[in-house]
Amino acid sequence: MLEIRDLSKTFAVSGGNVVQALAPTSLEFPQGRFTSVIGPSGCGKSTLFNLIAGLTSPSSGAILIDGEDVTAQAGIVSYMLQKDLLLPWRSILGNVILGMEVRGIPKSESIPKAMDLMRRYGLGDFAHSRPAQLSGGMKQRAALIRTLLYDRDVVLLDEPFGALDAQTRVTMQAWLLRVWQEMNKTILFVTHDIDEAIFLSDHIVVMSARPGRVKTVLDVALPRPRDRHVFADREFVRLKGYLLDLLAEESLESEESPAAMAIA
Ligand code: ADP
Ligand code: MG
Repeated sequence: MLEIRDLSKTFAVSGGNVVQALAPTSLEFPQGRFTSVIGPSGCGKSTLFNLIAGLTSPSSGAILIDGEDVTAQAGIVSYMLQKDLLLPWRSILGNVILGMEVRGIPKSESIPKAMDLMRRYGLGDFAHSRPAQLSGGMKQRAALIRTLLYDRDVVLLDEPFGALDAQTRVTMQAWLLRVWQEMNKTILFVTHDIDEAIFLSDHIVVMSARPGRVKTVLDVALPRPRDRHVFADREFVRLKGYLLDLLAEESLESEESPAAMAIA
């Protein structure tokens, strides 16, 4: 299990001011569960993920995996950054094995693993294409397969479908659920999209801005496997209404205090 305890992050900004991007936050992410993090832009979602991935050090608090302190250690989780791009000069296969390359895994091992996943998940015929030749959904799938092949129990995905059109997005959501169920990973997923959060998740962490903190954590009691019929389920509609209200409160608060971000 992944756990964060009193984790916070403050950035120094110009003029001697500081920005508290994340107020002390404690959360548990149980093994094998799918948790979405939702909240207004600038509420510290990416900061939280950067901390968990060990890319930045917290101002306070700790990150634990199965009770072991892994604070500020990189390489412990698989992480797909918000702007995770495929390298345009590499083939899709070359991009997909990148994470394993970074870990020093030889090509004799990484290429068969990559080809197997690419075939299983619809990219087998595009192994030797360049990213520019693929559709948006296929590129996202390649970036996700690369992240999964880094092969950690915990996978962080920061708005992976944000740039896709609505139809491709729905297809990719169903695809991700299938991959998640087959690979048994613990997924943390950032999204702005309420439907997406409910459809995918076991738990939804709702964050509020200024400073970023957890407002509430909801459980999604919808049966799995889920398909598009779930969107008409009464529990889905109820949760959606509740989340819309919570997020509307947040945007009102942001409008009322435009300068509250910088604190002395
Ligand atoms: P989100 O991903 O929820 O949109 P971020 O985690 O990217 O939000 O940012 C949270 C807040 O922290 C924002 O106000 C942002 O401007 C600030 N911030 C993020 N990274 C830095 C940094 N490296 N230096 C200064 N401020 C930062
Ligand atoms: Mg972000």
